[in-house]
Amino acid sequence: MISIRNLHKKFGDLEVLKGIDVDVQKGQAIVVIGPSGSGKTTFLRCLNILEVPTAGSVTIDDQTADFSKPFSKRQITAFRKQSAMVFQHYNLFPHMTALENVMEGPIIVQKKDKAAARKKAEEILTKVGLSDKMDYYPFQLSGGQQQRVGIARALALEPKVMLFDEPTSALDPELVGEVLQVMKDLASEGMTMVVVTHEMRFAKGVADEVLFMDGGKIVERGKPEDIFNNPKEERTQQFLNLIE
Ligand code: ADP
Repeated sequence: MISIRNLHKKFGDLEVLKGIDVDVQKGQAIVVIGPSGSGKTTFLRCLNILEVPTAGSVTIDDQTADFSKPFSKRQITAFRKQSAMVFQHYNLFPHMTALENVMEGPIIVQKKDKAAARKKAEEILTKVGLSDKMDYYPFQLSGGQQQRVGIARALALEPKVMLFDEPTSALDPELVGEVLQVMKDLASEGMTMVVVTHEMRFAKGVADEVLFMDGGKIVERGKPEDIFNNPKEERTQQFLNLIE
């Protein structure tokens, strides 16, 4: 479903991604872990070209973005439609209700008619456990509820791939579980997802594969039980010792 080749990203002289190669199969949940500043968020943002990589290519399903060649805005827009991102700080529209937030993408991006967008948004909000909060504004919702709206909004775009950028790290600890549960349900329904997170329990319980990043590279990758119980690389071991 996703094929990443020799991905590089520089900000000025700072090389943040130093050649990343990853394949993700359809239906896999991949969790990316690693120290702060290792390039995890940049890696995720490159997958839907919120950051433009300096070199390499990303293929999602049947579309390839090859960053060694010039490409048009139209190509970027088409490429972006294949994935949807969930952000750390939810990024909801504050002046719109939960329902309106979820309807916005389908109406604006996909040009769906309002009635169809509403029906779909209601279904998705029900799925994330917010059937009784559809008419609430973000400020009337808890952080966990806002993030579930964030996930619903991404799902409404019917992406082939969901990208999660530290979706629970702005939440009070008691609200983390409800968001992880929604993500867990998505994974078990076969959604292809790439998740940057510090939630090691989620990584252990849900990931098909864990990628450990450090210094702009993937240092080690493997099944969660291997990465957590038997890491091969010293840097992985050091990182896990620090956080556990
Ligand atoms: P992580 O998610 O692992 O904490 P990031 O991808 O956020 O790492 O950041 C990796 C490095 O890239 C950091 O040194 C960060 O300061 C730098 N960086 C990220 N975004 C930008 C940007 N827009 N401009 C300049 N430097 C950036």
